[in-house]
Amino acid sequence: MDIPRIFNITESAHRIHNPITPEKLATLGAALRLESGARVLDLGSGSGEMLCTWARDHGIIGVGIDMSQLFSEQAKRRAEELGVAAQVKFIHDDAAGYVSDEKVSVAACIGATWIGGGVAGTIELLARSLCAGGIILIGEPYWRQFPPTEEVAKECHANSISDFLMLPELLASFDRLGYDVVEMVLADQDGWDRYEAAKWLTMRRWLEANPDDELAKDIRAKLTSEPGRYAAYTREYLGWGVFALMPR
Ligand code: SAH
Repeated sequence: MDIPRIFNITESAHRIHNPITPEKLATLGAALRLESGARVLDLGSGSGEMLCTWARDHGIIGVGIDMSQLFSEQAKRRAEELGVAAQVKFIHDDAAGYVSDEKVSVAACIGATWIGGGVAGTIELLARSLCAGGIILIGEPYWRQFPPTEEVAKECHANSISDFLMLPELLASFDRLGYDVVEMVLADQDGWDRYEAAKWLTMRRWLEANPDDELAKDIRAKLTSEPGRYAAYTREYLGWGVFALMPR
């Protein structure tokens, strides 16, 4: 079981697979006022940076589930490196339908809401693991500028304009689901650069090491086209944030 190989190639050097920076991840951890020993569940935990740094900085106990074998291995190595391997556990698996045995104080899905079939379904899934008074974290894109055409949405790698909302509408959608938005940390364009531009050097180096790979032609084309596409579309039109929610 694994995610499409292209992501394991282009994001192999990423610690954070989203436009949030290490500084903003730390801001989020502080904003949530995490208590030592609090349990945190992370569906689609990637390379484990959130759980590992929050374990180090706030003493949380974490479980992360991710479908990428490579990212799961990187998460375990990161836990060793930060000296928190006894506090965090990373499971290589499909997180769809995953409910934790023990209820958690924070249940998160950061940039992987397809796991629950969209934002609403993911909130419903996370709520099943949440203790009373707990917080759900959703990391999700929104339109920073409304795309003038469906073409523009596609250039942002959305299927259609309707994939995402504008920020006020996204916040209103949480309200309609019966949740208070109690905190949020938004990415900015520098954060997008860290996520997207970091893929370019990774692709360039991978191409030099793997010239005969079956994906070499695709990666070559991507490396050539991505900087221009990203600057014209994603960087201008897409916002991204982590939203902290509590059921009313
Ligand atoms: N939350 C992490 C990773 C976000 S990228 C971070 O912010 O760094 C999306 C992640 O979802 C990838 O790590 C990918 O491997 C994982 N993923 C995709 N489908 C999944 C599934 N069905 N179950 C678990 N993880 C999944």
